[in-house]
Amino acid sequence: MKLVVLGSGTSVPHPQRAAAGFWLETETGSLLLDCGADTAHRMAAENLDWPNLDAIWISHLHLDHCGGLAPFLFGTKHAPLTQTRRKPLTILGCQGISKLLRAIDDANDYDLCDQPFPVELREISTDNSPEADFEILPDLRARSFSTRHTNESLAIRLTDRAGASVVYSSDTAYDESLAAFARGVDLLILECSFWRNKPTAKHLELAEAMRLAPLAEPRKVILTHLYPEWDAIDLESKAKELWPGETIAAYDGLRLEIQNRTWVQKRER
Ligand SMILES: [Zn+2]
Ligand SMILES: [Zn+2]
Repeated sequence: MKLVVLGSGTSVPHPQRAAAGFWLETETGSLLLDCGADTAHRMAAENLDWPNLDAIWISHLHLDHCGGLAPFLFGTKHAPLTQTRRKPLTILGCQGISKLLRAIDDANDYDLCDQPFPVELREISTDNSPEADFEILPDLRARSFSTRHTNESLAIRLTDRAGASVVYSSDTAYDESLAAFARGVDLLILECSFWRNKPTAKHLELAEAMRLAPLAEPRKVILTHLYPEWDAIDLESKAKELWPGETIAAYDGLRLEIQNRTWVQKRER
């Protein structure tokens, strides 16, 4: 598997951090984890094969996570590069995605799911049942977990055939059952919106993220969803003071690749 961070930021406009978006590639396909407002153009900027993207996961309805979905579909509907595509695109994620796309369709007869290729859209419930396991790409199993952020918010755990795994928390409040969900994962992509004195209960600050890490015991953590207050702070060394494990501060363009069950940082392209 390969991971490219497209957006390590939030809804707040920032010169270096786009809104949430992560490109994940396996031997059998490509998957976008969240599609923030900037994601479509970020995929192009990173030279990724967006015209052949296989699946999109939407964690929740905040626009820094799904605001780019309709613009991306508007793009693929008309882009010369996608006119000959015939393989389907799967859109999976939280409750309410269809309603959102319908509302945008209604505003201008976009018909966003009527593409040159088939689109399959499926909403995942928030009941956290362990048997609610699904295949998001061939040979890539997924399980979702309802997070304490908004009613529809979901984290996702992905495992490939070789057993390599990733958890993407998306936005969440402090919740130790999320650590249980992420237990033993190879790579935990965890939100860490604030350093300290967080202004809302619905996000994490560093001390909380670093309390979840030893409970989850991931092999590596990427902290993301970074508000501009992080600009002045050395996140990785602050994290090290609280948890000795390996923490990487996300940045747009960060690339990792799995080698023998270990996620290794790659040089930028
Ligand atoms: Zn967010
Ligand atoms: Zn949110």
